[in-house]
Amino acid sequence: MNVYSFPRGGISYEDSSVPQRDSSVVAFLPAISVIPLVQEGGGRVSAVVSVGDTVKEGMLIGWGSPNVHATVPGKVIRRVSWKNVHGREIEALVIRMGGYFEKLGKKEESFPWESLSPQDLRRLISDFGIVEMEGSGRAAAQMLTTAADPRRGLSLVVRCVFDDPWLAADYALCRERYKEVVEGSLIAAAIVRAARIVFAFSRGERELGDLFLREAGDAYPVSLMLTGSRYPQRNRRELELALRNYEKKEQVPLGSLLMLGPATLAAIHDAVRLRKPILDRYVAVGGSAVKKPQVMRVRIGTRIGEVFAGCGGFVGKPRCIVSGSPLQGRIVTDLDEPVLKTSFAVSASLNGQAGASGTWNCIGCGECRRVCPVGLDPEELYKSLASGLAGGKEARESRHFCHGCGCCELVCPSRLPLAGVIYDSQGDFS
Ligand code: SF4
Ligand code: SF4
Repeated sequence: MNVYSFPRGGISYEDSSVPQRDSSVVAFLPAISVIPLVQEGGGRVSAVVSVGDTVKEGMLIGWGSPNVHATVPGKVIRRVSWKNVHGREIEALVIRMGGYFEKLGKKEESFPWESLSPQDLRRLISDFGIVEMEGSGRAAAQMLTTAADPRRGLSLVVRCVFDDPWLAADYALCRERYKEVVEGSLIAAAIVRAARIVFAFSRGERELGDLFLREAGDAYPVSLMLTGSRYPQRNRRELELALRNYEKKEQVPLGSLLMLGPATLAAIHDAVRLRKPILDRYVAVGGSAVKKPQVMRVRIGTRIGEVFAGCGGFVGKPRCIVSGSPLQGRIVTDLDEPVLKTSFAVSASLNGQAGASGTWNCIGCGECRRVCPVGLDPEELYKSLASGLAGGKEARESRHFCHGCGCCELVCPSRLPLAGVIYDSQGDFS
């Protein structure tokens, strides 16, 4: 079977401090949950409960885009707010767990969906607050509405590309809940009236891809595409390059592309089939400071400090805590910050983030140019930005093509914060 990839740059990204990805463990239920009223990438949400109210597991507590639900039963004891590392004010409700779980440990009722209209399916996804869980946090119902256009011959691409070892949680989910991911793909395809579903799997995961194909059956035109495993193959731009190559070589017309990841699709399944909001998620917990890295199923709202405690705590004082992949993630400044719908990984390391500390002068080795998948010159861009110069017109424009993959920063022997400076500059000089 052919393997499709992007034409230049990229790295083979390995990290020995990630957890084993073949299985997961269920984390302890949190005595105190912190449920943000806004998720990353989400819009405004208004609380529909107040301090002192009793809430049930799965109950709507915030109305907006996307809706927010209580992930444990209990009492709302506080309303808190803090600023994240980007200066964004986050408001949250704090719930003290108590009382009876409506869903946990119960046999779940299964609701047939095949006769529902795309509008009804979309409404369920919106009501249950489903978001893109692999990063952006955008409301899934909105993404599906924007994508739905049968005239364009849309393909739904299921993004099971594991180019980054910190996607261990997605991998464990694909192994343990593949039926739900596949059914979620069929539901999403029905909503957007996709002409085809493409399961995009990393080259080493052919067996898992075949399992997905068999599970999908013949109700829909489905195909399997194997991708390269160099990072950032999963990135939207690099995956689209591989897909267009596949389209041409295999003569499979793809039309426009809607890319969704396995966690989002499993959540779409749960909203439609089980009438359930996102109560928990798979999280890869690891890093050199963590005693026992593992993939955990964690209730949304669990404080990050408790997640690390569930892995045996720290072996030494962590210097850097990140939510998401250390290459592109967000620095966590407070262990009381909660796990969000988008927190696919949390790591605590004994060293700083890649390129974040102990920098030296550029030695002109050219490694950053070699690995940039977009073909930029990170050295030149960094120097012009770091010296406060806007650079020439060409440099000014080229920085907008940077998608922040972090490859340049990871390979830089001088540990210069290339990606951070270049990607973060995109709002400047425009
Ligand atoms: S972070 Fe930007 S400049 Fe660096 S390798 Fe990625 S795309 Fe290129
Ligand atoms: S990788 Fe680092 S040291 Fe090498 S040329 Fe690029 S910026 Fe300079």
